[in-house]
Amino acid sequence: MAKSTITLASGKEMPLVGFGLWKVPKETAADTVYNAIKAGYRLFDGAYDYQNEKEAGEGIQRAITNGLVTRSEIFITTKLWNNYHRREHAIEMAKRQSDAWGLGYIDLFLMHFPCALKYIDPATRQYPAWWIDDSGTVAPDNVPIRETWEAMESLVDDGIACSIGVSNFQAQSLYDIKTYARHPLSALQIEHHPYLAQPELVQMAQENGIAVTAYSSFGPQSFVELPPAFSKRARGIPLLFDAEPVRAVAGKYGVSPARVLLRWATQRNIAVIPKSNNQTRLAENLDVLGFDLTTEEIEAITALDRGLRFNDPGFYLPDYPLRIFA
Ligand code: NAD
Repeated sequence: MAKSTITLASGKEMPLVGFGLWKVPKETAADTVYNAIKAGYRLFDGAYDYQNEKEAGEGIQRAITNGLVTRSEIFITTKLWNNYHRREHAIEMAKRQSDAWGLGYIDLFLMHFPCALKYIDPATRQYPAWWIDDSGTVAPDNVPIRETWEAMESLVDDGIACSIGVSNFQAQSLYDIKTYARHPLSALQIEHHPYLAQPELVQMAQENGIAVTAYSSFGPQSFVELPPAFSKRARGIPLLFDAEPVRAVAGKYGVSPARVLLRWATQRNIAVIPKSNNQTRLAENLDVLGFDLTTEEIEAITALDRGLRFNDPGFYLPDYPLRIFA
């Protein structure tokens, strides 16, 4: 069996397979997480933006109380939302988020996007995600990435986060952070599936000791279920589960197309964090280290790449206020 963790630049071990918490309803999150731990999951990928940190934390706490796991066997990743990039807000939010999980510390804290939005008081905020009003206004703010990164480093100093990293960043900003980082840039979380393989970004990160985690490993599958503005790009795109090279490999090894897509990433030392609310799929998605694809099979799947990004705020936000991936 292949190695089941990645060693981060911080020295900590991160599981290669985890469970993604985006779109897991608040009402069921505690039970979903508890059942995921029972199924064998140890890494949970959350975010302030997903609005279920407290409930996910309750599921983990229940598993610890019932003796299923210890705190040190669990790895929680969570993310700083864009409205909280200023030094004082980043620190306050991390403490608040850590308290919501109720697990004493955050294993990995990521900057969710490389863009700052104007502050919104979390106690009174009405709009989730990017908006500040009913008409969908997005209000950027001028906060240098360095200010936010240094605030995150102080979280490591204070034991609030064990490792820190970023999400949705590209090579230029990674090189820049590395010039001033006092604590290592341990991780990069990006959209990564055969329609958006980003081979050079993955290579750059791995060459620089930055562990890569793939999100939305199943490509369009996660986006077709969203409201129209967000699903526009995914609609009409053939599912990766049906793509010929994926089906061929699935048939050869007697595994599902979902497992092939996850193994395509983990075999290249890229962590995955699939999300499922279904117990059978949850177990299936965890079992993705026990078979190997040939180099030719990996290449045939990578050849599906068409630079197709589904999680692109530059495309789905009204009036295109931000072009993060330009
Ligand atoms: P995903 O690729 O995990 O796909 C989820 C979809 O696939 C759901 O519709 C689910 O029902 C279906 N599915 C799950 N297992 C399946 C199986 N075995 N067979 C068939 N269908 C299956 O998509 P995701 O939720 O977008 O990404 C995973 C996680 O990544 C998120 O939950 C979140 O934690 C993280 N994420 C991070 C960012 C970011 O900006 N950093 C963005 C998106 C997602």
